[in-house]
Parts: sequence; C-alpha cells; structure tokens
Amino acid sequence: MLRDAVRALSEAKIAPFAAEVDEEARFPQEALDALVAADLHAVHVPEEYGGAGADALATVIVIEEVARVCASSSLIPAVNKLGSLPVVLSGGEDLKKKYLGPLAKGDGMFSYCLSEPDAGSDAGGMKTKAVRDGDSYVLNGVKRWITNAGVSEYYTVMAVTDPDLRTKGISAFVVEKGDEGVSFGAPEKKLGIKGSPTREVYLDNVRIPADRLIGAEGTGFATAMKTLDHTRITIAAQALGIAQGALDYASGYVKERKQFGKPVADFQGVQFMLADMAMKLEAARQLTYSAAARSQRVSDGGDKEHLTFFGAAAKCFASDVAMEITTDAVQLLGGYGYTRDYPVERMMRDAKITQIYEGTNQIQRIVMARNLP
Ligand SMILES: Cc1cc2nc3c(=O)[nH]c(=O)nc-3n(C[C@H](O)[C@H](O)[C@H](O)COP(=O)(O)OP(=O)(O)OC[C@H]3O[C@@H](n4cnc5c(N)ncnc54)[C@H](O)[C@@H]3O)c2cc1C
Repeated sequence: MLRDAVRALSEAKIAPFAAEVDEEARFPQEALDALVAADLHAVHVPEEYGGAGADALATVIVIEEVARVCASSSLIPAVNKLGSLPVVLSGGEDLKKKYLGPLAKGDGMFSYCLSEPDAGSDAGGMKTKAVRDGDSYVLNGVKRWITNAGVSEYYTVMAVTDPDLRTKGISAFVVEKGDEGVSFGAPEKKLGIKGSPTREVYLDNVRIPADRLIGAEGTGFATAMKTLDHTRITIAAQALGIAQGALDYASGYVKERKQFGKPVADFQGVQFMLADMAMKLEAARQLTYSAAARSQRVSDGGDKEHLTFFGAAAKCFASDVAMEITTDAVQLLGGYGYTRDYPVERMMRDAKITQIYEGTNQIQRIVMARNLP
C-alpha cells in the first residue's frame, strides 16, 4: 500500500517536473511541497517527536519510488534522514524535541556536514574546529559538497574539538541556517542530480549554545559512521529507484520501436539485455531490503547483525547495478537514448553519484573487507 501510494504521488506530482528540474538545475520545490503535504518528506522521524514513524524498510520504499521518477527529489527524504539521524542516534531528549518536531512538520530540512575540501574519503582528517567558550562553542571551517545546503534550516556539523585525539577528538553539533557566521557557496555545476543543490557551507566564528552538542564531546565521528551504516541503505534505495525507472522506460520503448519489420523487443539479443537488467535489479533489491531489515532491528535495540557490512554491500552493489542498468537503458533506446528528449540519459547521469557519495564504492569495499560477516 505504501509503495502504491508513493508511486501514485510521484507519478502525478513529481515526474512532470523531473526533466525541467534537471534542465534548469533548480530545486524541485513541487516535490518538496507534495512530499510535505503527504507527510513523506522525513518519514523516519519517530512518532513520539511528531513524525510518521516509518521503519527502515518503509523509508527505503519511499526513497526508491521517488527516485524512480526523479533522483534529485529522492534526496529530500534521504538527506532529511542522513542529516537528522545523528540527533536520533546520539542526541539528548531536549535536542530531539527541539529539532525532530520541526523536521517532521515540514518546517525545516536537515543536512549532513562531514566532508571538507581536503577531507573526503579520509573524513577523519577534517579541519573544521569547534572551541568551547563558556556556555558556547565557536565553530570555524569549511564543509564541502553539502546536499541541500542553503535550502535546509538545520545542519549536523562534525568538527574537531581535540586535535590530538584524531577521530576521537571530533564532535557533532546542530547548526542552524540563521546562526550568525553561517553562509553558503555557489551551487556546484554537476553531471547529475542537478535539482539537488550541493554547496559549500562556511562557518565563520559561528557561536552556538553548548547544548547543541550531539551526544558527548569526542563521539561525533563514531556517530557520523554509525549514521552511515543506516543511511547507505537509503542510497542503495535511490539507486534501485533510478534503475527501475530506466528499466521500465526501456522495456516499454523496445516494444514500440520497430526495426527490420518488427519491434526490437522481438530480438533475442534485446531480450537477454532486459533479462540481465531485471535480474541484477532484483538481486540489488533483495540485498537492500535485507540490509534495511537489519538496520531496523539494530535501531530497535537488537544485535549489530553485521549492519556495517550489509549497509556498505547494499550501497556498493545497488549503485554499481544502477550504473549498468541505466547505461544499458540508454543503449536500448539507440540514438534516441543519447538525447534529452528521453529520460534515460538523465537517469544514467543521476545513477553515477550513487557510486560516489556516502563513501565511494572503493571505500565501501574497504569497509566490507574490514567487516566481513
Ligand atoms: C553531489 C554530491 C553530494 C554530496 N553530499 C554530501 C553531503 O551531503 N554531506 C557530506 O558530508 N558529503 C557529501 N558529499 C561528499 C562525498 O561523500 C565525497 O565526495 C566522497 O566521500 C568522496 O570524497 P572526495 O570527493 O574527497 O574524493 P577523494 O577522497 O579525494 O577520492 C578520490 C578517489 O580516490 C579513491 N580513494 C580514496 N581513498 C582511497 C583508498 N583508501 N583506497 C582506494 N581508493 C581510495 C576514491 O574512491 C576516489 O575514486 C557529496 C558529494 C557529491 C559529489
């Protein structure tokens, strides 16, 4: 029922703007409005904080269905989870009440600020600093590649509080868009997900109350990594949705397109491509849903269940599969697939990011090798 509802909403209210959002590289406001109206913009927020209380699998299904029509728009529910999960996992009760309520109501989105210009894969090498000063912390630094920066009201920022302790000297904070000293760079000009703004976040002597610290001092990096264990599964969901959108489009097209006097779908070479695409997609889906079930059981207080391995594996496998399927979808449309008159080239460009963010697929393989089940 959830899938049917999200699919219907996505097709009616998000799909019609997907090409325009990509072409104009503009924020998909129509999608945000439709998702907020249907209470689908941050479904993971627990009911006790005014949220929909969706479990990890339900959240995956929402992201997957939105991504099937518009990958940029799927970053609304996905990044709301990424940005706020540190608060959910490690924040105190007051912090949760203060920030999860407005997020659930649609009054403000959340972004996640880990990466920096010189600290990407090696996020522990970050330079942004937070210095305690009485009842405040003062933050200085530059965060790079921040999804939905400038649009979001709230930012989870990882910053160094004790440089001698490396990753154990990193702490997490909530920073608000309106805090004095917060500003944003120009939107990056990207290959895909052009509707999702990606910007630098500048922190210039940003003074915030000390109670914006998430968890204890020095636990920020651990919180950031724990968050990724859960949210890499949402990137897998995004990859599944993009791939499903491309497969659906290509499988319809080959039945209509005629060459040599018959639909190209009648050629066995084309059928074998479609079969491989569907097979890989279903394998990715099963791995992703299994990872989501583990994520939920861990959130419910269960054992770790190799979540780190499964989160990395789902993200890595689904994103590689999405890249293959979208590339094959372009191939199946021939020359037409290579133009912006058809959606598959957008899907191919959008799929590429899923192999890069929340840790590149090289990094996922390192994570998997260190956490073999
Ligand atoms: C559109 C977009 C949105 C993003 N959104 C966010 C966001 O909201 N919040 C956020 O914090 N970050 C975000 N990121 C940042 C993203 O997570 C990083 O770009 C990513 O982790 C890679 O870091 P890097 O770009 O510095 O690449 P680098 O770390 O410089 O990597 C360069 C290459 O070296 C490889 N490499 C690096 N180390 C190793 C190794 N040990 N072994 C093998 N290969 C290695 C990488 O796989 C890659 O191929 C976003 C990025 C993009 C492009």
